Amino acid sequence: MPLAPDSLEPTISIGEILAEVVATTIGSGFSEPIPMIGPFPSGAPTSFLVQCSRIGGSAAMIGAVGDDAFGQLNLERMKREGVDVSGITVDPDLPTGTAFVRYRPDGTRDFVFNLWTSAAGRLAWTDAVDAVVSRAGHLHVVGTVLGVPALWSMVERAAQKVRTRGGTVSFDPNMRKELQSDRKTAARVYAMLAMTDLLLPSGDELLLAAVMPPQNSEEQAIKYLFSLGISEIVIKRGAHGSTAYQMAGGVSHAPAFAVEEIDPTGAGDCFGGAYVATRRLGLSVDQALIYANAAGARNVTRRGPMEGAGSRSELDAFIAGTERITCSS
Ligand code: ATP
Ligand code: MG
Repeated sequence: MPLAPDSLEPTISIGEILAEVVATTIGSGFSEPIPMIGPFPSGAPTSFLVQCSRIGGSAAMIGAVGDDAFGQLNLERMKREGVDVSGITVDPDLPTGTAFVRYRPDGTRDFVFNLWTSAAGRLAWTDAVDAVVSRAGHLHVVGTVLGVPALWSMVERAAQKVRTRGGTVSFDPNMRKELQSDRKTAARVYAMLAMTDLLLPSGDELLLAAVMPPQNSEEQAIKYLFSLGISEIVIKRGAHGSTAYQMAGGVSHAPAFAVEEIDPTGAGDCFGGAYVATRRLGLSVDQALIYANAAGARNVTRRGPMEGAGSRSELDAFIAGTERITCSS
């Protein structure tokens, strides 16, 4: 079914909230002092929701921060961007999660995380969480929570509640290989797909989600995923743009915008936030793809995972003033 309209109330997401510090030089690891910049508010669900809100969608976050400056940094940013924070718990003991990131010369990343051992990992279903979920119109799930049993239970419960009231569910697998090698997580991926209306994989995640070997075709994976009840699949292709497949028929492709990539983190989340919000606000698949590509591209031009998230008018200006990359594949 199409995504529930924005009038059915906020898009919510459940998961990690982090403070992120990024190296300003390319290289490997953290074995010696290097220049870094941060802290930036971070976390895939928060980047997604901030972009969702900036473009005009209603958004509410469910997560936990510590009673510290990094927690404040995130709460302030979300409040400033119009994201409802009433479902965020301030943990009295554990600190806010952190991520230190450095880009290697080949574009891969070195990370040091304190994620599920921070306040983020002690998130529980409180009355405040229940209140937010009870009035949500759409749930966005990021794959990272599938590896955490307590958070997975919350996601399942929230998905059921949202769907019962006519709401919809999107899923960005954001799967790293290690996630998939774990049998329990693989079972959760399957359960998640069965509740998904909109799937937002990037690159090889499409075949991973369909549990197919790389030699299978995109079409085979799409056909199988539609058979599970998914109605829309949007593939993110980095500098190759994005493609949307609809169960009802129809394939749309939108080329990427030509930008200088400064920091790729958060592109997929901003893409998803813009896509879900614009679809819920009634825009067509073609229009939503353009806004989503613009949101992803604009975000990679700024350091920090959500610093380049754009408002509707900023994205309109970006679209009007930026060339598309025309490439054969
Ligand atoms: P993430 O690294 O946040 O997980 P992702 O792999 O989920 O990202 P990408 O495909 O990298 O998603 O980026 C999402 C979208 O953002 C792309 O479909 C594209 O439209 C845009 N985008 C990302 N990187 C670039 C780039 N270097 N140039 C132009 N557009 C880009
Ligand atoms: Mg991704």
